[in-house]
Amino acid sequence: MTVQEFHFCNWRNLQETRLIPDPEMNVFYGDNAQGKTNLLEALWMCSGAKSFRGAKENELIGFHQKSAKLTMDFISHGREQRLEYKFGEKKEILLNGVEKKSASELFGTVFAVVFAPNHLGLVKDGPAVRRQFMDFALARLKPTFQNLEEQYNRALDQRNALLRELYHAPGMEGLLDLWEDALARLGSTYARQRQKYVEKLTPFASRFYYELSGQKEELGLTYDGAEFSSDCGGYEKLIEQLKESRATDKKLGYTTVGPHRHDLDITINGISARTFGSQGQQRSAALSLKMAEAEVLSEYFDEKPIILLDDVMSELDSSRQDYLLNKFSGRQIFITCCDPASVLRLKQGKCFYIEQGELCEKTVEA
Ligand code: ATP
Ligand code: MG
Repeated sequence: MTVQEFHFCNWRNLQETRLIPDPEMNVFYGDNAQGKTNLLEALWMCSGAKSFRGAKENELIGFHQKSAKLTMDFISHGREQRLEYKFGEKKEILLNGVEKKSASELFGTVFAVVFAPNHLGLVKDGPAVRRQFMDFALARLKPTFQNLEEQYNRALDQRNALLRELYHAPGMEGLLDLWEDALARLGSTYARQRQKYVEKLTPFASRFYYELSGQKEELGLTYDGAEFSSDCGGYEKLIEQLKESRATDKKLGYTTVGPHRHDLDITINGISARTFGSQGQQRSAALSLKMAEAEVLSEYFDEKPIILLDDVMSELDSSRQDYLLNKFSGRQIFITCCDPASVLRLKQGKCFYIEQGELCEKTVEA
């Protein structure tokens, strides 16, 4: 999709403006605390998602104001469309003049992928963040996935509760078979879906990383639960694993095996990016995952999401910055940075200086 015009009113510290972005590259730069992330957040909220920095909706409205309004004119699925989104006591969402009951209905028509500084956790943090990344992406692609995830978590809660009860009532051990059967059945389908997603993601992420690193480094992605996928005997393997871990699980009072413990291993030139990657490599790897997420979405919806990159330039060397700013075409990107020197690398597109919430377009010198 392409944003043609974006109007925001009473949005955080941003002054009311009509932004006419470039159809491909848009750079927003300025000092800290001027409103760069606020602007990306406004674009992101139009995709019907929750704030990527965990803000409540009333925090998005400018101080001392009662409501905020975003209006976006855009092209999606080959036609010109308009979204009007009002935040306040009464939320109102109009897509092409038709009222939407829930913001989640917007996804697929208006959609975006965001990379914010906390997404570095995709590489640096523990496995829970990467599981969440795979599961969030799957939930956007497959409406039935959320149901599967909920059923699996319910079965897991039941087994965990029973493991703790066995201490007082050892005679109930037979009931574990029931929950282990459910966990293995749901878990093997869960693992299959994640494995399939990682298979789709990998070629895009590897290609992006290879180009970003000046064709010097290779990124690898491996879902470590692949062997438990239902299409390679995952049910039997999970049952066996659950039985084997029973003694340990009974002592601990929770289930130590299954998709809720799996991980997505990320390597650079064959070694763990989490353990050995430099800051720039980790940032590049996290960014590659996000860019690949956008490609998978594009294939699925037959429409390209807009890409929002918040503060992505820091820690990237000049050639990586240059690649990011100048080697993309055919999709719309909004990128923020603090350092004006990074902006000088931009060869084509638009750049905007932000100061105290006021946007000012600057000329890009080729
Ligand atoms: P940095 O480079 O440090 O990331 P930034 O330009 O991305 O800075 P933003 O996160 O966009 O900065 O925030 C800019 C300012 O917006 C903050 O100083 C904050 O006080 C202000 N702000 C946040 N919410 C509101 C609101 N609801 N109303 C008015 N101002 C707000
Ligand atoms: Mg910011």
